[in-house]
Amino acid sequence: MLFMVIETFPAGAVLPIYRHLNTQGRGLPDGVEYIDSWITADFRRCFQLMRTDNVALLQRWVLHWEGLGVAWRSCRSRPARTPAPPSRHCSTRTPRMLELRPNCECCGRDLPPDSTQAMICTFECTWCRDCAATRLPNGVCPNCQGNLVPRPIRPAAMLARHPPTGKRLVRPERCVAVVA
Ligand SMILES: [Zn+2]
Ligand SMILES: [Zn+2]
Repeated sequence: MLFMVIETFPAGAVLPIYRHLNTQGRGLPDGVEYIDSWITADFRRCFQLMRTDNVALLQRWVLHWEGLGVAWRSCRSRPARTPAPPSRHCSTRTPRMLELRPNCECCGRDLPPDSTQAMICTFECTWCRDCAATRLPNGVCPNCQGNLVPRPIRPAAMLARHPPTGKRLVRPERCVAVVA
């Protein structure tokens, strides 16, 4: 998927940002491809075209730039012939962090932020490894039919500022019943 990431810089931030870029690099995780970027003449806005199949990686990349006051917005590419309000494919919160949901949607078991058992789809639907392997038809997310990847673990220092969501979702009807 292609994403347009729109960054808005605070006044006077351009020097610290270029210093960060020169010393720390672009910080792209494996699986995110930088394609091109444009910056406005006043250095207040940057448009970056990126390609990834895992939106969680894009969010990890945003964390690399944490602390510089950059406001983020990202939009998934869509063919212009399918009209949809921008809110349908653009993130609205800035910065938009990966939603860390508290439990498996299938069996309800707890999946705390440091769990290595959590699997997510591109929309952050969350499943435990057991259910992903045994109770999800074809091993894909039953909500969106997308593939599942292990949920990246948010560093503890980042958890205080970007806490997990408390929203518990359990939809066992989407899973294959356990054979008794
Ligand atoms: Zn489960
Ligand atoms: Zn899904």
